[in-house]
Amino acid sequence: MRRFAWLDLRGTENAPTAPLPSGLSTKICFGLLAARFLRWLPVKRAVFLDRDGTINVDKEYLSDPAKLEIIPGAGPALRRLMDAGFLLFIVTNQSGIGRGFYTLADMEAVNLRLRLELAKDGVRFEKIYAAPEHPDQPSRGRKPSPQFLFDARDDFGIDLAQSYMIGDKLIDLQCGWNAGVKKSILVRTGYGASVERQEGLRIEQAWVCDDLPAGAGQILAEINAART
Ligand SMILES: [Mg+2]
Repeated sequence: MRRFAWLDLRGTENAPTAPLPSGLSTKICFGLLAARFLRWLPVKRAVFLDRDGTINVDKEYLSDPAKLEIIPGAGPALRRLMDAGFLLFIVTNQSGIGRGFYTLADMEAVNLRLRLELAKDGVRFEKIYAAPEHPDQPSRGRKPSPQFLFDARDDFGIDLAQSYMIGDKLIDLQCGWNAGVKKSILVRTGYGASVERQEGLRIEQAWVCDDLPAGAGQILAEINAART
């Protein structure tokens, strides 16, 4: 009987309350069913990636797509993350635009080449978030701000607590921590090795891995261990 209790909301002769407006009880019932169904939908989780020094070799204000160099093994590693159900996002500070070193169009040309190169391994990024401002200018999303991760949460339904952030600078790790991700991961490529040497206790909450493939491997090992 309990499952049909909603029918009583319409009111009967014995009910002291007024009947609900026509259709409202149906909407309430539908809402309850939808809420129950949504609980069984899989969680959307993501890996957020810094670009320069993490996915591609850091060449200091890269603006020429021809000079893009993908870190060895990055493509297959990202594909493995996708196969495990992770959505991929790039979160990049591009202050070279704000400094006047190159244009937004230059950055987009580099991003396009990056997408095309990694697409050869079946990699797809859901979105590339970029902060083009000079460090002295106000910015909505410049790392260590977690704003772009919040945007991804809101726009793509990402569960940040089940997601990861990977980068080669302290601000990348802080961005992840500020957003409440499961783990921030420092790679030793780019500036990562010097960050590891210099930051000591400030990075003790992070995993430190040799490179992006190693970081991806550690994520996959953790989620596989959680399943068993
Ligand atoms: Mg970097």
